[in-house]
Amino acid sequence: MGFTLTTPLYYVNDRPHIGSVYTTLAVDTLARYRRLRGESVIFVTGCDEHGQKIQRTAEQAGVTPQQHCDRISALFADTWRQWGISHDRFIRTTDPRHRAIVQQFFERVEASGDIIEGQQRGWYCVACEEYKDDPGGGDCPIHLRPLEWRDETNLFFRLSRHQAAIEALISRPGFIRPDARRREVENFVAGGLRDFSISRVQLPWGIPVPGHDGHTFYVWFDALLGYVTALLEADDPADLSVALARGWPARLHVIGKDILRFHAVYWPAMCLSAGIDPPEAVFGHGFLTREGQKMGKSLGNTLDPERVLSRCGSTPLRWYLLRDIRFGDDGDIQQQRLLDLVNNDLANTIGNLLNRTIAMARRWFDGVPSPAALPDLDHPLARQAARAVEAVDGHYDQLAFDRAAADALELAAAANAYLSETAPWTAIKTPERRDAVAGDLYAVLEAGRLVGVLLAPLLPDLSADLLVQLGCPPLEGWSGALAWGGLVPGSPLAEPHPLLQRLELEEPL
Ligand SMILES: [Zn+2]
Repeated sequence: MGFTLTTPLYYVNDRPHIGSVYTTLAVDTLARYRRLRGESVIFVTGCDEHGQKIQRTAEQAGVTPQQHCDRISALFADTWRQWGISHDRFIRTTDPRHRAIVQQFFERVEASGDIIEGQQRGWYCVACEEYKDDPGGGDCPIHLRPLEWRDETNLFFRLSRHQAAIEALISRPGFIRPDARRREVENFVAGGLRDFSISRVQLPWGIPVPGHDGHTFYVWFDALLGYVTALLEADDPADLSVALARGWPARLHVIGKDILRFHAVYWPAMCLSAGIDPPEAVFGHGFLTREGQKMGKSLGNTLDPERVLSRCGSTPLRWYLLRDIRFGDDGDIQQQRLLDLVNNDLANTIGNLLNRTIAMARRWFDGVPSPAALPDLDHPLARQAARAVEAVDGHYDQLAFDRAAADALELAAAANAYLSETAPWTAIKTPERRDAVAGDLYAVLEAGRLVGVLLAPLLPDLSADLLVQLGCPPLEGWSGALAWGGLVPGSPLAEPHPLLQRLELEEPL
């Protein structure tokens, strides 16, 4: 069974923004890590394309909803290509097979007695596609736009019947991470789960509900099933059981904290009702601000992913976003800090380490030095590397990308400090110390190689370049590559080049 992990299916009301990039980079890192571990990963991303908001946006633009969806989802696919995202599936909820999957799923839920007709009255935010618990009908607190009054006959999902099962599920350790999010959901559930409407009437831009003329599915009911449809392979029939057998349950949904309820409560309850395992875990990350301010179109301070990428490149952005912000917490994007971290950590600490050590090894040993004893597991750098290696699986497993980054960076810093202490450029002038210099340079190069391996999930391009410069083959496995002593003594080293150009930004991003 594969390791299925997912980003949200991004809503196509607008082009990709930096928040979607952030989530997707994190999931990409985890997917790369799992693949290196030898697991068969199914990394799912895609677009959520139905609902009133899409219909209205298309109308305003004078195109059909399908044309609108085609255009925006192509932008998402293009964005992920430009950022080097390694997803295995890109699902669009307008995929004809998805319609069949949703309808089959609904039939299971209906057969279990969880669908009833009811009257939906309340204040609705079209941008959220959600009813709000707002008695007065003011503005949506997220969108700051007026709520709309709705009073219609809908089909309801009997969420209230699943109270006990959901309580048990969310109390399971690790089901909702981080802990603060779990407590949020626990509070919500403790307030009593209420049935929610899963259909709309007079909304043509949606999947028809079988057996209920005039009803289309509420966009969330349809969208969540995109995770299942995505598991179908190219030649598979549109069959729910086939899709499930391909890789369900998802091992992890990574989402922004604003949609936690849907993934950690509504969706698992829908799965239980349909006789399907709920997802195994949900991780709700925080929001990004910019220079201390909420980002928004009206504020004119959004970060366009294409522009950011063309000016910085993906490696600096991956490093900055995943190293500096603890994944799960809210984070603030600060341009000066971006420059400082990228230049200090990547260009100086890691880049210069590699560059000057390779140069010395070439000059004095014509390649990787051959130390007297190998592997020297008592070497101080070997011991430091062993600590980083021991911790790294836990960090990536826990999505603690900042800690994985910090350990690799500390190893590089230790290697730099070791060079300063032992001063091989002086020692090499004494012929009796040549062997000691060989051992030291070997250890520093080997520490550099391990920095490259440890960072492979996080910074795939930089890691690959680093390993090429050390004459290492491309990474295939993980644990073998993490053993001290992987560099082959006596192997040639080519002229080094800078791992990363220093990042200079004259203007705001
Ligand atoms: Zn809203």
